Amino acid sequence: MEEKTINVPELFGSMVFNDAAMKAKLPKDVYKNLKHTIEEGQSLDPTVADVVANAMMDWALEKGVTHFTHWFQPMTGITAEKHDSFINPVGGGGVIMEFSGKELIKGEPDASSFPSGGLRATFEARGYTAWDPTSYAFIKDNTLCIPTVFCSYSGEILDKKTPLLRSVEVLNKEAVRFMNALGYHDVNQVSPTVGPEQEYFLVDRALSYQRKDLLFAGRTLFGAKPPKGQELEDHYFGAIKPRVAAFMAELNQELWKLGILAKTEHNEAAPAQHELAPIFGTVNLSTDHNQLTMEMMKTVARKHGLSCLLHEKPFAGVNGSGKHNNWSLSTNTGINMLKPGKAPADNLLFLLTLVAVVAAVDDYQDLLRISVANAGNDHRLGANEAPPAIISIFLGDELTDILEAYENGEVYTPVKATAMEMGVSVLPSFMKDTTDRNRTSPLAFTGNKFEFRMLGSSSSIAETNTVMNTIVADALGKMADRLEKAEDLEKEIKLLIQETVKEHKRIIFNGNNYSEEWVEEAAQRGLLNLRTTADAVPYLVENKNIALFTRHGIYSEEEVRSRCEIQLENYSKVLHIEALTMLDMAKREIIPAVNHYLKDLSQTAASVKAVLPTADCSMEESLIAEISQRAAALYQKTVALDKLMNESKKHEENVQDCAIYYKEQVFTAMEELRVVADELETLVGQEYWPFPTYSDLLFKI
Ligand code: ADP
Ligand code: MG
Repeated sequence: MEEKTINVPELFGSMVFNDAAMKAKLPKDVYKNLKHTIEEGQSLDPTVADVVANAMMDWALEKGVTHFTHWFQPMTGITAEKHDSFINPVGGGGVIMEFSGKELIKGEPDASSFPSGGLRATFEARGYTAWDPTSYAFIKDNTLCIPTVFCSYSGEILDKKTPLLRSVEVLNKEAVRFMNALGYHDVNQVSPTVGPEQEYFLVDRALSYQRKDLLFAGRTLFGAKPPKGQELEDHYFGAIKPRVAAFMAELNQELWKLGILAKTEHNEAAPAQHELAPIFGTVNLSTDHNQLTMEMMKTVARKHGLSCLLHEKPFAGVNGSGKHNNWSLSTNTGINMLKPGKAPADNLLFLLTLVAVVAAVDDYQDLLRISVANAGNDHRLGANEAPPAIISIFLGDELTDILEAYENGEVYTPVKATAMEMGVSVLPSFMKDTTDRNRTSPLAFTGNKFEFRMLGSSSSIAETNTVMNTIVADALGKMADRLEKAEDLEKEIKLLIQETVKEHKRIIFNGNNYSEEWVEEAAQRGLLNLRTTADAVPYLVENKNIALFTRHGIYSEEEVRSRCEIQLENYSKVLHIEALTMLDMAKREIIPAVNHYLKDLSQTAASVKAVLPTADCSMEESLIAEISQRAAALYQKTVALDKLMNESKKHEENVQDCAIYYKEQVFTAMEELRVVADELETLVGQEYWPFPTYSDLLFKI
């Protein structure tokens, strides 16, 4: 078949009602009005809504669209949509296509079926979605999708986008004040920029359907290690298999149509694991785009007979998947506030912004940790493949030395950059970076941005960025207070750097975050080590955290408490589903398979003996002994887990209690059950085993 060449610039954004589409479709004054709203955050003139709605619909109809939906991001972590067609009856049994400003601005989904953490009783079902004009509408599945925020009838927020948008405004306010106080009077807008790198697994769809754990839990709950894992390190950056390459090519095209800047793709460390990185953008769009990227990965995989696994730990024994949230701050005048430039030691704007982030992260370690906490991610953090659960910052030697010089009031002597010597004269020469990379740090400064690496692959980036924006806004605001009053600005800046480094340097760590020594040292430094979701999430309602969020108008106290509840409840529910799935697989699949094999072994031995009474059947006998002993153990473990599940109801009253019960009792029992089952897998004949193994899933693509 001949490959069709594609025109990427033409394809790019073709399914987005972006600036170009608006310009083409809207009357000039309406376009200007809308643009003010998008770029400067001014509220929208309601009279333009009808005009915009009509133009959007016309644009969508030309592309064969029949429906529209308010697209929103409830607390489930995924997106939600309810489709309505544009049809409107006219006399004579006919219809016309219509879309009003009212329908664009406001939707009324039933809120009672979305998580609310006690904010809303089920009888108070009304919820609203409200158009967010700062994120472009787009077309997906023949439907015009309007990005919206979601709240309850009484105004409590029920989604992940509203707090994010609020945090963007707060950060803008404080950062502009900070810049102005530093003498950058032309700065009137500061926006966080974000580029999330996304990891995922691809497995054969038909095989994945044969496993209930992949179906219900998104991860394997059983599975013995195959003879080969990732130890040869031959998958990372390896040549991409044709089936995967075809998937990636189609995925790129679909993402480009949606205006998503899909840029980098490569194989990751584990077999069957891959990564996609976009070019960074504003945090609002990046968040929407990351949600769409995850959804599109699943959709496109299906078309290629594949399943895309976004779970944080689909397979034991090989790396799990994460998401790296690259974050920086940029001004309307084109300054990246975290760009060190040629002489970082003299770049006071950079250094002060840097230490503001250091202070913010130190003060609110718990919030960053909570922003990535879920049952799936608990398998990664601290498992020597992802950063540990302890938050720290990597700055590298050069920056750490500079900050130390400021702390001690000394003058810093820059390290000379050296040329890279390859020992081959035809190769072009280049200068080495002054600092090496570090792959083990949860939050690494990487050149001109911070890379937060603790996020799980499946989660929305909204929470992490809401926290990042809010805590940095808080730190910059406090600095602005001091700078605005300073008589000698330069002196005050240096003093601020000095004080901040002194107070917060415990959070800076440039060594190996995977080592045992770090865990001990971190404890000595007084850093938090919140190992699991059940340990971490209760910190959300600490006074200092509620004070931070309410001070900046991100959440009300009730909203913070409800989020704590939702997150803990979700943790328990995930473990509940996993445990039930394990019991189902053990009782209805593994035990029958083991019995089948035992029966064949004993029948073989019996029939051999019948022919030749002196025959040596010690092989069958030993195998029967080994297997039946484990089979009995397996049964015991299912009985124990069953009992725990029956007792789980007793803990449902208190969400925190319940989460701890699942973590300490249920999870432990699940692990014990798994150990025995995985041993049995290595003993029972291949044809008898009831579902595809790790070898099948990881290597047969
Ligand atoms: P690595 O694998 O080394 O971390 P990648 O190139 O895969 O690097 O990813 C780096 C990510 O950081 C990309 O998504 C990139 O767009 C993003 N990025 C670069 N500069 C900025 C910035 N100023 N703000 C936010 N993200 C950025
Ligand atoms: Mg990275």
